Amino acid sequence: MIRKLLRKVFKRPQNERHEPALIPVARHGIRREQLSPAARKVCSVLQEKGYKAFVVGGAVRDLLIGHPPKDYDVATSATPEEVRAAFRRSRIIGRRFKIVHVMSGPETIEVSTFRAGQDAESADTDEHGRVLRDNVYGNQEEDATRRDFTVNALYYDPSTETIVDYHHGVADIQHKTLRMIGDPRTRYREDPVRMLRAVRLGAKLGLTIDPAARNPIREMGVLLENVPAARLFDEMLKLLFSGYAVKCLKQLREEGLHHGLLPLLDVILEQPMGERFVWLSLENTDERVRQDKSVSPGFLFATLLWHEVLTAWERRKAAGEHAQPALFEAMDEVLDAQAGKLAITRRIVGDIKDIWALQPRFDKRAGKTPYRLIEQPRYRAGWDFLRLRAQAGEIPMEIVDWWDRFAHAGHDEREALIRHAPAESAPAAAKKRRRKRRKPAGAANAAPAGETMPGSESA
Ligand code: ATP
Ligand code: MG
Repeated sequence: MIRKLLRKVFKRPQNERHEPALIPVARHGIRREQLSPAARKVCSVLQEKGYKAFVVGGAVRDLLIGHPPKDYDVATSATPEEVRAAFRRSRIIGRRFKIVHVMSGPETIEVSTFRAGQDAESADTDEHGRVLRDNVYGNQEEDATRRDFTVNALYYDPSTETIVDYHHGVADIQHKTLRMIGDPRTRYREDPVRMLRAVRLGAKLGLTIDPAARNPIREMGVLLENVPAARLFDEMLKLLFSGYAVKCLKQLREEGLHHGLLPLLDVILEQPMGERFVWLSLENTDERVRQDKSVSPGFLFATLLWHEVLTAWERRKAAGEHAQPALFEAMDEVLDAQAGKLAITRRIVGDIKDIWALQPRFDKRAGKTPYRLIEQPRYRAGWDFLRLRAQAGEIPMEIVDWWDRFAHAGHDEREALIRHAPAESAPAAAKKRRRKRRKPAGAANAAPAGETMPGSESA
C-alpha cells in the first residue's frame, strides 16, 4: 500500500512531464468540415458544457494519411455518466471498460473518458503480465500515453482545428512510421493483441513498423495464446475486413505469427487443397471492402472452411453415405472442430451453413427446382460462392453463367434454359461414369443425380 503510494508520488517527476505540441491547421491541413457532422456535434456539445472533448485515434490518423475514416472516436474529460446525460440518444456500454455510444443521425460516435494506463506492477494482470482491467480515469496526457502507437494518440479539436500531439505522432505519420508509445516489449506483454494491431495498421496504412516494435513480435507472439478467443476473433475480423487482408496475412506469416497462435490463420495458410480458393476469396473480399461493397463474415468463413468440408464430404460418400445427408454431416463435423476454436459466433455459423447447403442445389436444373432456388433469401450469397468455386477451377463456369442467365430471364427464356440444361454437372457426370465403369452395373453409388462433385479436376 505504502509502496504503491510512493510509486505514485515519485513515478513522474515534474521535469518528466512534457507539454504536448499544438499543431495548427496550417501545418496539418485537416479542416473541421472533413469530419463527420456527428463527431463535430459531440465535441461541441461537450465543450459547451465545460468538458474537454477531442476527436482521437484512428479517424485523425486516417485523415492525416488521406484515408477516409471508418468511424469516429471522441475522448473527453466527462465521465460516462456525464456524457450519457448530455445526449438523449446515447447509451453506456461496458465491455472491457465503460464507454458511451452517442447516436446522431445515422452515425454512432464512440465516446470514452480520458483514462490512465496502468503499469504492470500496480495493475490487475494475469501471470504473463497481461493487463486485465484498465479502467482508471486519468487526464489527457495519461490518456495519450496509454494508447498503443504514436499515430493513434493524436487529439483533434474541431473548434480550433488544432491537433494536440504528445508523442510526435504527426512527425511519425510524415515519416510513414508506426512507433509504439513506451517500451514495445512491456506494451505487448500488457496486451498481446497490439502485435496484431501493429501488423494490421502497418499493412493497411502503408506504414513501416519501427524496428523496436517489430523485432520483439517473433519471440513474443506466443503470448497471443493467453488472449481470450473472442477478442482474437474480433481482431481477426478487423484484419480480414480491413481491405488489406492479403497483405496483412502475408505480413503475419512473415512475422511468424501463425502455427498454433492464431487458429484462423492456420486454417487460411495451411490448406494445400483449398489454397487457391482461399486466396481468391480473400482478394475478392479486399476488393469489395475497398469499393465500399457489403461483406459478410459468414461468406468469408464459408470460403475459408469449404475445402475441409469437401474433404469430409468426399470421405463420407466414399464410405457409402448418401450425398445430401453426408454433406450436412460433413458441415457439422468441420464446424464442430473449428467454430469453438475460432470462437465463431452462432449467428455466423448459421450463415455459413446456409451458403454451403445451397451449393448442391445449383446442380438441379430441372422442373420447378430452379425457380424455388432463386427465391431463397441467401440465393445471391450462394451464387457468389458458386462463382468463386468456378474461378478457383473447382467446377465449370458454365453452371455459374447458366444461373446468372436464369435469374435474370423472363419466363419463356427460363423454360428454354431448363430444357437445354445438362442433366447434371459435367464433373459429377464424369465421376459417375468412371464409377460405373469400375463397378458392376447396379452397384453404382446412390448419389442423387446432378450433385456437384467436390474437388473435381475440371475447370
Ligand atoms: P481502426 O478503427 O481503423 O481499426 P483504430 O486505431 O481507430 O483503427 P480502434 O480499435 O477503433 O482502432 O481504437 C481506437 C483507439 O483506441 C486507437 O486509435 C488507439 O488509440 C486506442 N487503442 C485501441 N486498441 C488499443 C490497445 N490494444 N492498446 C492501446 N490502445 C488502443
Ligand atoms: Mg476506430
